[in-house]
Amino acid sequence: MPSTFTHEFNASAFKGKVSFSTGIFINGQFQDGSDKTTIDVINPTNGKVITSVSEGTAKDVDAAVDAAHTAFETTWGLHAPGTKRSMLMSKLVALMEKHADELAALEALDNGKTFNWARNADVAGSIDCIRYYAGWADKVTGQTQETTEDKLTYTRHEPIGVVGQIIPWNFPLLMMAWKLGPALACGNTIVLKPSEFTPLTAIRMCHLINEAGFPPGVVNVITGYGGSVGNAISSHMKVDKVAFTGSTLVGRKIMEAAAKSNLKNVTLELGGKSPNIIFDDADIEQAVNWAAFGIFWNHGQTCCAGSRIYVQEGIYDEFLKRFTEKTRTLKVGDPFAPDTFQGPQVSEVQFNRIMSYIESGKAAGAKVEVGGERHGSEGYFIKPTIFTNADPSMKIVQEEIFGPVGVVIKFKDEDDVIRQANDTVYGLAAAVFTQNLNRAITTAHRLKAGTAWVNCVNSLNSNVPFGGFKQSGIGRELGEYALSNYTSVKAVHINLGHRM
Ligand code: NAD
Repeated sequence: MPSTFTHEFNASAFKGKVSFSTGIFINGQFQDGSDKTTIDVINPTNGKVITSVSEGTAKDVDAAVDAAHTAFETTWGLHAPGTKRSMLMSKLVALMEKHADELAALEALDNGKTFNWARNADVAGSIDCIRYYAGWADKVTGQTQETTEDKLTYTRHEPIGVVGQIIPWNFPLLMMAWKLGPALACGNTIVLKPSEFTPLTAIRMCHLINEAGFPPGVVNVITGYGGSVGNAISSHMKVDKVAFTGSTLVGRKIMEAAAKSNLKNVTLELGGKSPNIIFDDADIEQAVNWAAFGIFWNHGQTCCAGSRIYVQEGIYDEFLKRFTEKTRTLKVGDPFAPDTFQGPQVSEVQFNRIMSYIESGKAAGAKVEVGGERHGSEGYFIKPTIFTNADPSMKIVQEEIFGPVGVVIKFKDEDDVIRQANDTVYGLAAAVFTQNLNRAITTAHRLKAGTAWVNCVNSLNSNVPFGGFKQSGIGRELGEYALSNYTSVKAVHINLGHRM
């Protein structure tokens, strides 16, 4: 029998006892993994165990895929009209709204992000995303084509089948919503693996999915490790598509596994090293505030974090002065305290990884303007950190740190900064700050990135596509564009009289 997770929250933001059974979720049932082993879930504020959840195995993935196939062939897929899918998704939205504070509290406890951001960004964004795709479920249609022959020709956008979805720990619930929304709207059934570091909201969502009345097997969730459960999903012969969000390193493995098995359809949302360009004519106060939000929001654990901050030489000194001042004001601490901006990094592994990047920057001769060390003595807190005097070849300029560490770099003119900004294997997002409209538009167009922000950063909407150029990914999430990730196009030709 899977264990029950119980926790008493006692913060001013959220008080109350939360209790639900954990376990892997197959065919609408919670159960132990086939090996009956568990994974400890760690509280990143103090390194202590919160609870343990079932560890799934490749055998469990087989069972989940079978359940998803049966559901696809009997109760979902072409057997559930769009109106029914839409109605069930809307019921799920209502339940997420009812439990929004609880979901935010679980996210803050498990991931370390602040309750306020979890509530206002992660949970609110997840609700918005599922609601947006509930609206699409009965509007996924093909086209009719005129041809020169005497026939009726049209296309159908059919669900792909069983889709595998593998998600990271930085926005556990939001990434789940981005995956579930379009897949369910289009009529696919799902086998999803949350990150082993942050499984709690995904498990809680399974309870809400049952309560909403989804047929068993439509959504299956297997908690477990990447090398076992994740690999079993991406190499499974009966999984028709895999959608992955995570590191570029693992994205490559997913694609290899898909290629070596059944050539399943693959979409990837990967890492980034996004440039944030601030021209001399920018509104400097706004540029400082957005730049801080760009690199430090979610503790820098954001795929589109503006980690390379390019500042034109005319305002460089003034910007740096104000940016370091602003950074010093960002309060690091308890995720449940109302004035905390930044909680702990998600895990000891990430903490060590980020600290080693900070040490590599120092050793290579870059200057720490602010931060550059751990915060406090327990948990995985790191002070918001700004480097200057960094050479373009340094690891802190080239590699995704995925922590609260930004590099400020001086530039001369537009051509100089475009060349530097595009000098990366990534292409997820970019931002430009200027009050000159022509410069804003030409720069946004010259940057090789899937998203270009002008005078803002980290701005996302459920109806606007998001995804990467270059090694930042394949395919787009969100918006109408994401529907194409989850449909197969069939062309139907009906002969209206041509005889052989
Ligand atoms: P990760 O790649 O280590 O893990 C992501 C998921 O893949 C986890 O569930 C993990 O268990 C699983 N996994 C690990 N090895 C696997 C394997 N061999 N086969 C199948 N699955 C496997 O990434 P992470 O550390 O969880 O997240 C951070 C990364 O995610 C960063 O690089 C970040 O940029 C990226 N990210 C991208 C986006 C985006 O939309 N582009 C959004 C969020 C995060």
